[in-house]
Amino acid sequence: MKISWRTIVLWTIPALVIGFFLWQGTFAQTQMNMGSNTASTRMSYGRFLDYLKTDRVTSVDLYDNGRTAIVEAVDPELNNRVQRLRVDLPVNSPYLISRLREANINFDSHPPRNEGAVWGLLGNLIFPILLIVGLFFLFRRSSNVPGGPGQAMNFGKSKARFSMEAKTGVLFDDVAGVDEAKEELQEVVTFLKKPERFTAIGARIPKGVLLVGPPGTGKTLLAKAIAGEAGVPFFSISGSEFVEMFVGVGASRVRDLFKKAKENAPCIIFIDEIDAVGRQRGAGIGGGNDEREQTLNQLLTEMDGFEGNSGIIIIAATNRPDVLDSALLRPGRFDRQVTVDAPDIKGRLSILNVHARNKKLSNEISLEAISRRTPGFTGADLANLLNEAAILTARRRKEAITMLEINDAVDRVVAGMEGTPLMDGKSKRLIAYHEVGHAIVGTLLKEHDSVQKVTLVPRGQARGLTWFMPSEEQGLISRSQILARITGALGGRAAEKVIFGDSEVTTGASNDLQQVTGMARQMVTRYGMSDLGPMSLETQQSEVFLGRDLMTRSEYSDEIASRIDAQVRTIVEHCYEDACHMMRDHRVVIDRLVDLLIEKETIDGDEFRQIVAEYTNVPEKESYVPVL
Ligand code: ADP
Ligand code: MG
Ligand code: ZN
Repeated sequence: MKISWRTIVLWTIPALVIGFFLWQGTFAQTQMNMGSNTASTRMSYGRFLDYLKTDRVTSVDLYDNGRTAIVEAVDPELNNRVQRLRVDLPVNSPYLISRLREANINFDSHPPRNEGAVWGLLGNLIFPILLIVGLFFLFRRSSNVPGGPGQAMNFGKSKARFSMEAKTGVLFDDVAGVDEAKEELQEVVTFLKKPERFTAIGARIPKGVLLVGPPGTGKTLLAKAIAGEAGVPFFSISGSEFVEMFVGVGASRVRDLFKKAKENAPCIIFIDEIDAVGRQRGAGIGGGNDEREQTLNQLLTEMDGFEGNSGIIIIAATNRPDVLDSALLRPGRFDRQVTVDAPDIKGRLSILNVHARNKKLSNEISLEAISRRTPGFTGADLANLLNEAAILTARRRKEAITMLEINDAVDRVVAGMEGTPLMDGKSKRLIAYHEVGHAIVGTLLKEHDSVQKVTLVPRGQARGLTWFMPSEEQGLISRSQILARITGALGGRAAEKVIFGDSEVTTGASNDLQQVTGMARQMVTRYGMSDLGPMSLETQQSEVFLGRDLMTRSEYSDEIASRIDAQVRTIVEHCYEDACHMMRDHRVVIDRLVDLLIEKETIDGDEFRQIVAEYTNVPEKESYVPVL
């Protein structure tokens, strides 16, 4: 730690003040002692006069301008023992002096000591002096410290909100499942470690790398790993921290950041969420944001301002490359883009391996099974999953994490906290039918994902849940698969309607219906899977607020719009009818499954399929041929 002289001064002030009080305390003590330590017993003035009359006083010493007296008296009753007594005298008593003379008593007067007065004066002065000196330094200091009170006058001058890590301690081995990205970034490590190799041939080392990917996929981790592998300092700042209330603050932060980085080259500058500053200029409602644009301009200027081979490499991360200003992406700035995607099944396995290193897992645990159960999970989700499982294990006082905790943790991460099951009653029965409705469609239709379990234990918003085995991301989804999903999602409402009647259906299906409509609409407008033919009728919506144009051109006429609506309705109606048919045809097995579900709360997928197979003459799933 660097100790500046200002720190020393600042610590001396309180020390001096405290010292002063201690010293003044002892000083006052001695001053008083001069008069009193020779005589601790007090005597009243009247008594003193009595003593004088009876000639018991032998000597008198006057102190304090004659206001206090130490009197020596003898006590005949106590064998003429000499007593020393203190007497407070009335202010002016010339009478006393003459009495003393008359009685021929030895008396003396002691003036207050002079040095005491000097000390007293100094003592009185020293405190204000210290106060003034202290305040002076305090003000001087605060005007140099970011955020201090003196800062109000010159905000933006030096507010470095970035953080610097000399050693990140993260290595490429800690990042898993993103092998392509790692391979490309390995090159950046070489740039930092052995720049001569490139400059010797006249190659210009790239200045910026843009990491693109959804949140939680390990972009920050990768940037740290580059710094860790190359052994260089890591400067990081978040894009949102550039954007401030005051115009010009962001720009000055950019200047500051680059200045510090140049002093510490070679190093890495990491700008997280660069889309917060790097959005297209002049876009959005109201023509854009001056402050943000100034900041962006400053960033561009700085990036152009330093030589390509100065040893600074800027890494930025975003999950919205589409909104970035094109000036950021041109060669010489962020000219490299590295995609960091959500991991596939193999990637998830290796990420789980990384995070399982410091966890106690029981032998039965298969990380492969976990990675199969978790399509769509990012690195951060998986790390969180293992942590949740570890917490559960600790709470259950087990030695090591078992598959039970893992499964509970997955459920919790996907669907939220577990609630308490409903009491038996009509609404529990209805929820049971609704869930069995989903599950039976999923079991009967070949194209549908298989049922993993059906449960009446509420989680998050859902009052009951049907879990399906996620199909591994095969990428493409066929038309009959989408139709099967729509039918499955309508299974819940279909069961409610067939069993309880039209007037008893509930609001519980609203989420299902939203999904159904979304899927059906996309079939028509994006995938060309309807009678309207293979046409893309909608581009993906991009929000105005994130820096795109306000006006979106609608891609079709009003006539087409009503035809789209009609197509969507046809698809949903047909699927709903199919689902209702399935409910009527399998009423017996549905009733049995509902009874079992109410009794057990949860039915496992295998058991569910077994029971369904007992009642249907087709042991295999039906192939779904939708009639449209
Ligand atoms: P991002 O910056 O992409 O949003 P982070 O790098 O901040 O994501 O990831 C958050 C956490 O998730 C990391 O600290 C790490 O524990 C975990 N993580 C994410 N991706 C990976 C990965 N590919 N390998 C290992 N751990 C990962
Ligand atoms: Mg991040
Ligand atoms: Zn439902």
